[in-house]
Amino acid sequence: MTSALITGITGQDGSLLAEFLLAKGYRVTGLVRRTSGDFPWRLEASRSRLNLIDGDLLDSGSLFRAVELAAPDEVYHLAAQSFVGASFDQPELTANVTGLGTVRMIEAVRRCAPHARFYQASSSEMFGDAPHSPQRENTPFRPRSPYGAAKVFAHHSAVNAREAHGMWVSCGILFNHEGPRRGIEFVTRRISHAVARIKFGLDSELTLGNLDARRDWGSATDYVEAMWLMMQADEPSDWVVATGESHSVREFCEVAFAYAGLNWTDHVRVDPDRRRPTDITGLIGDATRIEAELGWVRKTSFKSLVEQMVDADLARIAQNLGKG
Ligand code: NAP
Repeated sequence: MTSALITGITGQDGSLLAEFLLAKGYRVTGLVRRTSGDFPWRLEASRSRLNLIDGDLLDSGSLFRAVELAAPDEVYHLAAQSFVGASFDQPELTANVTGLGTVRMIEAVRRCAPHARFYQASSSEMFGDAPHSPQRENTPFRPRSPYGAAKVFAHHSAVNAREAHGMWVSCGILFNHEGPRRGIEFVTRRISHAVARIKFGLDSELTLGNLDARRDWGSATDYVEAMWLMMQADEPSDWVVATGESHSVREFCEVAFAYAGLNWTDHVRVDPDRRRPTDITGLIGDATRIEAELGWVRKTSFKSLVEQMVDADLARIAQNLGKG
């Protein structure tokens, strides 16, 4: 039985990947941070089939222990301080968790499971102020946020581990991907959540920063499959995963509110104070290489992604109201 270790298993991608690997017959171990809160909601569906180990990217010893206990064939390193907005307020923490945390994880695998395959969750935010569009594997990195800068450091550290130590390391340069499990702080989920609350009469207004911000938004379900495909490749490498389409926050609002029978202009208010100190424009990815080399196929359209997110938030609120 193939053994996988997932850092960030309580997050959007980690929880989806865990279910994907369990369905393929893997033994799945997840690294979880100790919290005083409830059991992580995203793992409810899979909890009885998972092996969870306490650990933190800020604590090397716990990472060494986790790798030893899991004895993985494949390590999916997804944990990070992953929110770009928060990285402007907490740049040092972001560098420590997202940047150095990756180095700690690579070292733990190099020492304790040197033959394991390693996946690094790289990000389109590394491209930042990109010199051309669409972005490909060889596009230079010009990050525009502390998060993007930390991911560039982590990415180069992962590539160096491959080149210097001969580790089997692949980096997925993933563009934004969303879904019903997206964290509530991200703009797409803020919109779908607000639509559901407005539909049920619990709210009337949603405040957003920049309606013209554009992103290449894909589905997290499609993207975790890309991660797995990269780990099955004959040789490690780095691949861009993207839809090749760009949509604005305004378009996201239009589709989401209309799906719930609402007019977005009646409910969305713009507050310039919510804008980021620096933002990126014109990021759009070219996934030709992973499609051609690994047979990855995008399955979810933009409209369907938005509708899935609204459906999930409507169902959650209906359930909560039913409980109340
Ligand atoms: P997410 O939902 O924010 O999940 C982040 C995960 O990292 C959570 O499980 C979190 O644990 C864990 N984590 C944070 N700090 C940690 C620490 N100090 N020690 C151990 N674990 C820690 O992120 P995601 O959307 O699933 O993304 C997965 C990865 O892909 C991230 O590295 C992200 O930066 C990258 N990425 C995401 C996108 C995207 O659009 N989603 C695009 C490109 C790259 P808690 O539950 O305890 O907070």
